[in-house]
Amino acid sequence: MTTHLSFGTLLSQGVLRLRVAAFAEGPAAGLSLDAELLLAHAFGTSRARLRSHPEAMADVDKAKRYAQLIERRAAGEPLAYILGRKDFWSLRLAVTPAVLVPRPETELLVERALALRLEEFGRVVDLGTGSGAIALALASERPGWQVAATDVSDEALAIARTNADSLDLRHVQFLRGSWFEPLAGRTFDLILSNPPYVASADPALKDPALQREPQIALTPGTDAMACLREIIDSAPDYLERDGWLLLEHGADQAEEVTRELVARGLRHVRSHRDLAGHERMTEAQRA
Ligand code: SAM
Ligand code: GLN
Repeated sequence: MTTHLSFGTLLSQGVLRLRVAAFAEGPAAGLSLDAELLLAHAFGTSRARLRSHPEAMADVDKAKRYAQLIERRAAGEPLAYILGRKDFWSLRLAVTPAVLVPRPETELLVERALALRLEEFGRVVDLGTGSGAIALALASERPGWQVAATDVSDEALAIARTNADSLDLRHVQFLRGSWFEPLAGRTFDLILSNPPYVASADPALKDPALQREPQIALTPGTDAMACLREIIDSAPDYLERDGWLLLEHGADQAEEVTRELVARGLRHVRSHRDLAGHERMTEAQRA
């Protein structure tokens, strides 16, 4: 890529480069947004400024830096890792390859949690919090809730704590351990989790973007249901009476998750569709 160019030309070159890259089969609109965000990132400026000054001549060193970012994206690295951030709910979260990039469909879990009429000082836990996305979104919406969050990954918890600090949500409690292990003796009005639920043999995991994410965040191993089942098995012991369990799962797992929840004696079991129309989460209440 030539370096002594205007913003407008750099942008078109970036979009072209992404379009020929193997991964770039998505709509062109997504590619130009990616290129624009990378250009703004490389130049430390805003998209609005790039748009209002497409003819401005770009600094050579920054243009080189932009070309490097475009190459990383063209190689399949998730945009969020390159930018070091991802917007989730109303929050801007720091993300690194130590955490799953929070997905828009996971906002459905937050939405359903807020729709439950929990009391003002509700006790809530987010199992496998990763970047802290779910726990922090809830803490920001319901300042009275006592929110805890767990993960097995120390690296993930470090990112989640950084996010809690920078969002000034320091009352969220982060604990290390497997699922309910760090919560012995405690009970909750609401338990949420977006656990790993992709089988290790699923060809979807070959996607270059997914390969850059922590595999421990995506797959429980050969049995796609393993983590979901483990959580469902223990959840009633950690739920208050009438407390809720909200689980994200794969588009084809609603039926199996429902069966497990019913078998475990939970009631009001209901699945909800995400914006793509997939049954993406199921909720249930302790009798
Ligand atoms: N909650 C975040 C979100 O929705 O963006 C991250 C979800 S990611 C799909 C699953 C998370 O579960 C990862 O952060 C992973 O480290 C964590 N995890 C995997 N196995 C775990 C276990 N046995 N106990 C607790 N957390 C676990
Ligand atoms: N929804 C994620 C995906 O895009 C999977 C996340 C998970 O396993 N919980 O594959």
